[in-house]
Amino acid sequence: MLGMLGGGQLGRFFVIAAQKMGYAVVVLDPDKKSPAGQIADIHLCKSYDDVDALDQLKSLCQAVTTEFENIPATTLEYLENNLVVCPGSNAVSIVQNRIKEKTFLQSKNIPVGEFIIINNLKSIENLSNNQDIFPAILKTAQFGYDGKGQIHVKSVLETENAFRKFNLKPCILEKKLKLDLEVSVVLARSNEEDCVIYPLIENHHQSGILDLSIIPAQVNDLDKEESIRLATKIANDLDYVGVMAVEFFICSGKVIVNEIAPRPHNSGHFSIDACIQNQFDQQVLALTGNALGIEKINDCAVMLNLLGDIWLRNGTQKLPRFDLVEGPQVNVHLYDKEEARIGRKMGHITLVGNNTKQLIDKAERIREVLWKN
Ligand code: ADP
Ligand code: MG
Repeated sequence: MLGMLGGGQLGRFFVIAAQKMGYAVVVLDPDKKSPAGQIADIHLCKSYDDVDALDQLKSLCQAVTTEFENIPATTLEYLENNLVVCPGSNAVSIVQNRIKEKTFLQSKNIPVGEFIIINNLKSIENLSNNQDIFPAILKTAQFGYDGKGQIHVKSVLETENAFRKFNLKPCILEKKLKLDLEVSVVLARSNEEDCVIYPLIENHHQSGILDLSIIPAQVNDLDKEESIRLATKIANDLDYVGVMAVEFFICSGKVIVNEIAPRPHNSGHFSIDACIQNQFDQQVLALTGNALGIEKINDCAVMLNLLGDIWLRNGTQKLPRFDLVEGPQVNVHLYDKEEARIGRKMGHITLVGNNTKQLIDKAERIREVLWKN
């Protein structure tokens, strides 16, 4: 029996991978209808800091992992006393907080974009000496995802207003960069000798949410090698065990780190259809102390996210017409979420093949058909 903290779609794909390998899974998630909870062997419907639930986890399973960086690090520490927990509380506590994450990266000489820590109103006063940070994005240090917890600002006054909107909780102010491209590295690591890396992924966002991923990324060899070098260094420096993703900006010809995810990543979903061992298989293998391995079955893939927006295309919730886009090498994955909301990830489609340009065109045609019908 393996434990999964978090019941979203990433947890759901983990449950599928674990069950396929013969494990049972207990999911902890406070949502009665969570995507992973619905297919788990056991669903503990309690909050992530509920001591009774954590004790139950301890008695039910041998090893625990997570799908969601906002699990309190104290929960992981509590479980670490009795169970295998990976990734561990140390790595998660760093990457779940943007201030700790950026400070950690700087301390390891890993390039990050220009930023200023905003802890209180005093740090905002000091900004008047730092006008060249604007235009900028104020991001809450914790609990943001899919572009949530971020406000774009152009002046000291706008920053103060935004900081008040976030109830004066610690934030970072990031200079808004002109991005040439975004890429990510998804890797799985057991130890320094056993670390496997998926092909570099190119990511396109809409309103701060991942929209489309292209594999392999269409970048030059130098940028590719640099992103992979940096991601590997981060994993080694954190002594990371499990699946990790690093998001990069390519900006004025430089590769810089945007953020780290201590879990499988939306951009790694192509691996479900394009590889023998997908990112969730690796999560199971790392957690259970087995050897990792990637075998590719397709040269190229394109992944299109399906947001609730398509369900709501005519005002009321209606399942998109997937029957109109089905065909060989079109893989539709739905997460079994009852309620569609704007910006909510409801599923994704992966196209596999051997010609990137054709796959991108096909993804755009599929998008159009789903929107128009
Ligand atoms: P999340 O936790 O929501 O993924 P990110 O910090 O990765 O938060 O921001 C989401 C997206 O917003 C990024 O992938 C990028 O497209 C855009 N973005 C974030 N920070 C910056 C920045 N400093 N400059 C330009 N674009 C940014
Ligand atoms: Mg991100």
